[in-house]
Amino acid sequence: MAEAKKRTALDIIRSYDGPKIRIMEVCGTHTHEIFRQGIRQILPPQVDVISGPGCPVCVTPVGYIDQAIWLALEKGVTICTFGDLVRVPGSTMSLADARSEGAHVEIVYSPLDAYDYAKAHPDEDVVFLSVGFETTTPPSCLAVKQAVADGMTNFSLLTANKTMPMAYEAMKDSADAFLYPGHVDAVMGTGDGEAMLKEGVSGVVAGFTAKELLTAFAVILAKFPQGKPFFKNCYPRVVKAEGSPAAQALMKEVMEPCDSEWRGLGVIPQSGQQLRPAFAVCDARKKYGVPDMDGRANPACRCGDILKGQCKPPQCPLFGKVCTPEHPVGACMVSHEGACSAYYLYGGNL
Ligand code: SF4
Repeated sequence: MAEAKKRTALDIIRSYDGPKIRIMEVCGTHTHEIFRQGIRQILPPQVDVISGPGCPVCVTPVGYIDQAIWLALEKGVTICTFGDLVRVPGSTMSLADARSEGAHVEIVYSPLDAYDYAKAHPDEDVVFLSVGFETTTPPSCLAVKQAVADGMTNFSLLTANKTMPMAYEAMKDSADAFLYPGHVDAVMGTGDGEAMLKEGVSGVVAGFTAKELLTAFAVILAKFPQGKPFFKNCYPRVVKAEGSPAAQALMKEVMEPCDSEWRGLGVIPQSGQQLRPAFAVCDARKKYGVPDMDGRANPACRCGDILKGQCKPPQCPLFGKVCTPEHPVGACMVSHEGACSAYYLYGGNL
């Protein structure tokens, strides 16, 4: 008798006739890859994909941008930053606007580039805008360790580093299943997803190729109708159960947990990372006495709701009219990982 043909991930997705399901793509890179690879087009209509809080630039609050501008204009420091942050609107201006008022802003591609810049310019006070999740925090820690070891006094971080577990906790009722971010889990391992499973929250760790993403969706759609919470690592070629012990040890040595404000989600206790007292010499907040700043976003911008999965970019009244990648009103349109830029770029609808 001929062996029954094995169903592919595509077969499982296309034939899904189960209940309505909301799947949250936590990671901004997933948002863009799912669009770019045309995966949304093949999902059945009862499968709703919503974006989440996994774009580091998007979740950085307006007050942080204001603090960076304050450092540049009032303290005269050189700001080193990833390019996306330069165009994010602060309360009254962006770093790009501040530049035209004399602020010195350098674009870098990593914290170690900022360290190199500071080392090569000992006459400048250099502050690196340290934003991001568990993927980008280890290189910031490495730059700080190197600067301290070198006895440098002109290099510091303005930290807004964040960690995912408490955000998962805050978002756990927002979706039926989560696509967990493969990059973060490559560093942290599968423990966070397993912990959420114990709370009855379903999700899979997803990679970024078409095959990996289709597999992740197929596993969700195969398991969801069974009615039991599930967790699966669908990115095993990169994500190991234990993650990267070396990166975790480095973060633990240099940083400690702190409360952190997320755009749209407010302050989430113990969801941030700040420098430990032993590395205070590299803490820009302490070094320059940076004041707390509340920050005011454009009141019509719905980035906050988008990051919580409560609305989609086309539901924002400014989307594609007042707010475009050329003239962004909010962070989600600036960032190359932002949901608004993905919908704009790929023509996504509701
Ligand atoms: Fe904010 Fe622009 Fe997105 Fe609207 S389209 S939510 S204004 S970033």
